[in-house]
Amino acid sequence: MAAFTIPNTQHAAVVPHSGDAIEIKTDFPVKTQAELAPGECLVKLHCTGVCHTDLHAAMGDWPIPPKTPLVGGHEGVGIIVAIGDNTSHSPVKVGDRVGIKWLADSCLNCEQCRKGREQTCVEAKLSGYTVDGTFQQYVVSYVNHVTKIPDGFDSNAAASILCAGVTVYRAIKYSQTTPGDWIVLPGAGGGLGHLAVQYAKVAGLRVIAVDTGADKKALCLSLGADKWIDFKESKDIVADILAITDGLGAHSAVVTAASSSGYKQAIEYLRNGGTLMAVGLPGKATLEASIFFTVFKSISILGSYVGNRQDAAEAIDIAARGQVKCSFALKQLSDLSAVYEGMTKGTVAGRIVLEMPQ
Ligand code: NAD
Ligand code: ZN
Repeated sequence: MAAFTIPNTQHAAVVPHSGDAIEIKTDFPVKTQAELAPGECLVKLHCTGVCHTDLHAAMGDWPIPPKTPLVGGHEGVGIIVAIGDNTSHSPVKVGDRVGIKWLADSCLNCEQCRKGREQTCVEAKLSGYTVDGTFQQYVVSYVNHVTKIPDGFDSNAAASILCAGVTVYRAIKYSQTTPGDWIVLPGAGGGLGHLAVQYAKVAGLRVIAVDTGADKKALCLSLGADKWIDFKESKDIVADILAITDGLGAHSAVVTAASSSGYKQAIEYLRNGGTLMAVGLPGKATLEASIFFTVFKSISILGSYVGNRQDAAEAIDIAARGQVKCSFALKQLSDLSAVYEGMTKGTVAGRIVLEMPQ
């Protein structure tokens, strides 16, 4: 394979300090092949999805602060244009089309990695958080953690599977549900949620989508949600869910709302033995649950954090076969600030994918 020509500078969306406005730079440096460490690769991006996590990162919402200045982004798809010298046993090569996910790298040798919890490796590198991410034309990533994108799977359609898709795929996989069970999805009209509706249907579940507004309602129902509850219109969400589920409650809830309100009452509307999968990440909220009813109803409360390499391969495979489709609007890297505004107001149904200047 002929070597790719790599420019010295590129377009990048940079947050100088947490909470600052985004600056679109046109002279942001690109690492040369010689500067790549063993195990690192340089990916020329075609596109990147925008996750609500990127907004949390830009705002500095979370208890563990991100690096600054920060190039956010962790749902990128592009071509490997260089690999660091002395990289051994690389599962990918120059010219391969790959995806960049939140978990950019992990050590693969610690107890967490060996147990398949690569996400909680203490040496984990996080794309667009502890290392610069996909809101730039050329991103440095890691050969062991990039995800191969199958031929024929459109890059724009694949992008948001790498975070939103992987995350909800894994949360549903561990939700202790079986086909025919009822699953509640607060946040169903958002980026993660609309993919959760579809992965839940692939798993044979019956879906109660909870979100707000006509656009998100239409999206959820078009994707196969069995029932819809508008959390702003409902007078009593618990009563609504009990009415749908023969008075017994739902078997599981996967909460992808970015605010604590989406978690309220989950213990009340879950049936005995039900499982709450906590996915949405409001930075400062605490989870209020009745201890009595958590015990009395044998409720499981589980945190679910993105996914490992295997989860990524499985989530991508399902989407590449057309069983799950990201509903996205295509915009440009320079539109990122406006996308964050929409996300803050809650007006983005599904996902926004940004095309890189080529
Ligand atoms: P998004 O903004 O696209 O979607 C969030 C949705 O929640 C919106 O549609 C909003 O209307 C809805 N919502 C808000 N309050 C609600 C309520 N009370 N009930 C029901 N719905 C409500 O965001 P996203 O990109 O899907 O991300 C969602 C959250 O998940 C963020 O906090 C993000 O950081 C987090 N996240 C977690 C992981 C993980 O590994 N656990 C991975 C990716 C993202
Ligand atoms: Zn994400």
